Amino acid sequence: MNSISHLIDGQILAGTSGATTGVYNPATGEQTATLDLASVEEVDAAVASAQRAFESWSKVSLAGRTKLMFAFRNLVAENAGHLAKLLTAEHGKVLSDSAGEIARGIENIEYACGIAELLKGSYNEAASTGVDVYTVRQPLGVVAGITPFNFPMMVPLWMIPNAVASGNTFVLKPSERDPSAPLFMAELFQEAGFPKGVLNVVQGDKVAVDRLLEHPDVKAASFVGSTPIAKYVQERATAHGKRVQALGGAKNHMIVLPDADIDMAADAAVSAAYGSAGERCMAISVVAAVGAVAEPLIDAIKVRMEKLTIGDGTDAASEMGPLITQQSRDRVAGYIGSAAEQGATVVVDGRDHSFDNDGFFIGVSLIDHVTTEMDCYKDEIFGPVLSVVRCDTYQEGVDLIKNNPWGNGAAIFTQNGAAARQFQEDADAGMVGINVPVPVPVGYHSFGGWKDSLFGDTTMYGPEGVRFYTKAKVITSRWPDPANSRVDLGFPTNQ
Ligand code: NAD
Repeated sequence: MNSISHLIDGQILAGTSGATTGVYNPATGEQTATLDLASVEEVDAAVASAQRAFESWSKVSLAGRTKLMFAFRNLVAENAGHLAKLLTAEHGKVLSDSAGEIARGIENIEYACGIAELLKGSYNEAASTGVDVYTVRQPLGVVAGITPFNFPMMVPLWMIPNAVASGNTFVLKPSERDPSAPLFMAELFQEAGFPKGVLNVVQGDKVAVDRLLEHPDVKAASFVGSTPIAKYVQERATAHGKRVQALGGAKNHMIVLPDADIDMAADAAVSAAYGSAGERCMAISVVAAVGAVAEPLIDAIKVRMEKLTIGDGTDAASEMGPLITQQSRDRVAGYIGSAAEQGATVVVDGRDHSFDNDGFFIGVSLIDHVTTEMDCYKDEIFGPVLSVVRCDTYQEGVDLIKNNPWGNGAAIFTQNGAAARQFQEDADAGMVGINVPVPVPVGYHSFGGWKDSLFGDTTMYGPEGVRFYTKAKVITSRWPDPANSRVDLGFPTNQ
């Protein structure tokens, strides 16, 4: 059995804690590897390595950092095919989806290649007579990233490039479900020429996470995962004096107005609800169908669902793969059952889809007449289930989003520019799509939701990412003639 372990101080090190967990291929249900789980001592070794590396790395010139970041970008791009295979083998998503995730991750490396431009700071000459004032941004030190299973490559790349290019060193704790792709990416990072210790990877569970959140040398923590853990991470890291950004779960709504193009809206709903088996924090899980649009829209969605090919992600014909675990599959099945019991109409039942292997598969589901009291509406299902809530007016759709505890993404489908403009203002969510169902911002904007989808102050990657990983220093400077120097106890005023 393949054994997967840590990358500490530039070396792959076998685990010493004795604690392990299994890694599975979700398409077959078979265990493919054993993962070493880090002890407190192993986390400490990774942080110590990062701390040592910080002393010199933070002094490397912007030109030097940029060169290495370009080399890393090229190695990830050259190895994208292999990375996608590693990712699909442990996550289950189809290969084209894995490739897409890696491409979006590369965007974040490319953004960080412009670090010289991003760290330019600001300068005021003659703020007062003969006095200049300027702001520079400096790195924090060792920073940690804790990432979820659903984007094992892209989410670490939301964090590492900006953090490292800004002069920090990094300890990554990837998801224990699909650790191979991020570990291989860290090996590429070494190969690109970064000094040892600039990026360390510790595999682990709560033990490793808790130690990172408490370690006095870890200055900031970036987290992406479910809402309860995001909230916990924010509270614990903050209690230990760290800067923290913790992105949580989601329940993303797509309002479809009566004037929308039905085919376009149905294409978008099916793609956004069932892509990656619904295991995306920006997946659409609720369609708010306004007025008479509901019937034709549901028919159009149903037609498209029947044509979807579900199977092993390595099969080029597959459009959707399995879920991450059997437990996750059973949980999703439970929500379909509870929706029926609670009075919804299960239009397409994914539990009826039969598969001829032992993977963690379930078919796609569509549930109509969903109300806000039902469990399938209240919880984040994180599976291929689309709920339809029927609304009489635009305002009812907007209120659904407003009253929902999460606020990651929200989308509207309409041909009416004024309604779309109004939605941009009204939507109580951090990322809004206008005829775009999955409005994940490009690498040079920043990603983050509102309400229970984000705990902390700054969103992730892009300009906010650089801001998160740096602290501002304001310098006030003057070069007066010593001959004019005198004691003055008055409060300094500007002239
Ligand atoms: P998760 O919260 O179970 O795990 C995320 C990370 O936290 C993992 O590294 C895991 O090892 C660690 N962890 C788990 N339990 C812990 C505990 N008790 N104490 C300390 N650390 C713990 O999330 P997941 O199942 O891997 O990912 C799916 C979730 O992530 C969904 O809720 C999804 O919406 C969310 N997500 C959000 C975003 C976003 O940008 N808002 C992006 C991707 C995923």
